[in-house]
Amino acid sequence: MKIEKLIPDNDTFSEEDHFSTNASTPLRKDAFKLSDDEKIVLIQEHFKYILDTLGMDLNDDSISGTPLRVAKMYVKELFGGLHPDKKPKASTFKNSYKYGEMLVEKNITLYSTCEHHFLPIVGKAHVAYISNGSVVGLSKINRIVDYYAKRPQVQERLTLQIVQELQKVLNTKDVACVIDAKHLCVNSRGVSDISSSTVTSEFGGSFKKEDKKLEFLDYIKLDTDFNE
Ligand SMILES: [Zn+2]
Repeated sequence: MKIEKLIPDNDTFSEEDHFSTNASTPLRKDAFKLSDDEKIVLIQEHFKYILDTLGMDLNDDSISGTPLRVAKMYVKELFGGLHPDKKPKASTFKNSYKYGEMLVEKNITLYSTCEHHFLPIVGKAHVAYISNGSVVGLSKINRIVDYYAKRPQVQERLTLQIVQELQKVLNTKDVACVIDAKHLCVNSRGVSDISSSTVTSEFGGSFKKEDKKLEFLDYIKLDTDFNE
């Protein structure tokens, strides 16, 4: 079996160019030259090669369908958030009721994939913002979390991407996000620490101020000290 290697070019595709941060997912410019269906065919072949190399019998009924199943799952589900077309539409509403305090959407279920080991990251995201005149539908926040989670990720980048997207959509810096998640690459292998979880946070705009930060952390009941 022969594996065609895709030649990476050095230019990376940046969906958040105007933010000039390094929080963008490192994608090549030609990342979407292949269609989803073409990617599924190629990944299926590559995954067959992995199983074959491990010595698995691909004629066995139980695993003969695995390469195609994994390929579809990668392209359509686990890594579906790589495709800019899947980004949730940025519709906002006028804050006509003049609600001026923070809005907290907490305990958003998070499933992502560690890009270093390709194992699951499972946890909760907590997001807050203070309206600058516009508001978003609550489910939009969940969808933005899910969109960025459906990529090969590191938790730090995921946290930043969620905050930066909401800052853009809501036209305010006053957005914060805390993620508390378990990484199966830590929990199930390597040091095998089943109880540890990883907390990351990003506090934008007025959430950098002590009182707003503490108010947010109080709502989500995380007593971790983020001031260091
Ligand atoms: Zn990992």
